[in-house]
Amino acid sequence: MNALHTSIHHSAVFDHPEMGSHEDIVFVQDRKTGLRAIIAVHDTTLGPALGGCRVWSYENPSDALTDALRLSRGMTYKNSLAGLDLGGGKAVIIADPRKDKTAEMMEAFGRHVERLSGTYITAEDVGVSPEDMEAVARQTAHVRGTQATGLGDPSPYTALGVFEGIKASAKHVFGSSDLDGKTVSVQGLGHVGYDVAGRLHEAGAKLIVSDIHAPAVLRAIETFGATAVDPGEAHMVDADIFAPCALGAGLNARTIPHIQAKVVAGAANNQLQTPADGEALKKRGILYAPDYAINAGGVISIALATPGGGDKLVREKTLAIGDTLSTIFERADREGTTPEHVADAMAEERLAKGKTA
Ligand code: NAD
Repeated sequence: MNALHTSIHHSAVFDHPEMGSHEDIVFVQDRKTGLRAIIAVHDTTLGPALGGCRVWSYENPSDALTDALRLSRGMTYKNSLAGLDLGGGKAVIIADPRKDKTAEMMEAFGRHVERLSGTYITAEDVGVSPEDMEAVARQTAHVRGTQATGLGDPSPYTALGVFEGIKASAKHVFGSSDLDGKTVSVQGLGHVGYDVAGRLHEAGAKLIVSDIHAPAVLRAIETFGATAVDPGEAHMVDADIFAPCALGAGLNARTIPHIQAKVVAGAANNQLQTPADGEALKKRGILYAPDYAINAGGVISIALATPGGGDKLVREKTLAIGDTLSTIFERADREGTTPEHVADAMAEERLAKGKTA
């Protein structure tokens, strides 16, 4: 008994610092394929919990649990603010995506998703390929974002939403959404960033681009007549708008004092390193478009696409991201608070009202 009491300490799970009002946390094991996963369902008030599956070589299960709890909560907020009738969830598989992942492992994961009877709906995330999701889909129908269920790659819709969000931000700060002649620093020219850069170029914006992957930079110089800078300098160039489209935590105590732009609006997830960084941007008079509000086009496309159904509804909801951001900015001004606080409040208000269309 004593041994059991010391090894399974009660505080390990239920007193976890990231434990909020999560509804289900499922620990999954399949010895045959080596699958070890955690599926976290945060909230199903608005509908089944939709959120991607991440495969990552976590150092220990505790880090995996932390990630699952945090990310699933984030999906509740993102889906709510995007006006989707979906709750928030997330799955993490503890494995090196390059070394450990197999089709059999993904199929085993699919069988466990199936057991949850649609409470959790899975999709692609970091470390998961379209082929992996096809393996999952062989075992469960509770999967989105495969070719069979929808529109495939969500990145073009993410980019469309980000572009709308940049226009809404420009309108709030400069009085017009016209980007002709405005200078935008786009950091990261991947699936989303390159597409955003293209849309900005078409709208007449001058581009300053950066990426650690040189060919992407060269392509942007040739195609859009962009100017290149070192990725580490993207935030400090003389631009009207800074669009972070690479990785997270780029807005922090080191970078914020050097930002020249009046607007920060881009696709990257988790842009603020800490909540204090949002306050710091506000103090400097820089408008920040909350990341999970502006980059929701991808999840909208995954959630609403139907087999052979076209993308009319997806485009409509994605274009509405601009209006949502305008509402957020106006309310933040009225209440003297930051846009990310208002985004959280709006997501919570919709949850409190329960399911509304
Ligand atoms: P991606 O991997 O295709 O592109 C990322 C790009 O950033 C790559 O070209 C990479 O070389 C570059 N990069 C990496 N580190 C960099 C650095 N320090 N400085 C400059 N460039 C750097 O990813 P993506 O799908 O385009 O996503 C970009 C961001 O948007 C990510 O933060 C992602 O989480 C977020 N996001 C993407 C989607 C989507 O639909 N793809 C949806 C929501 C949010």
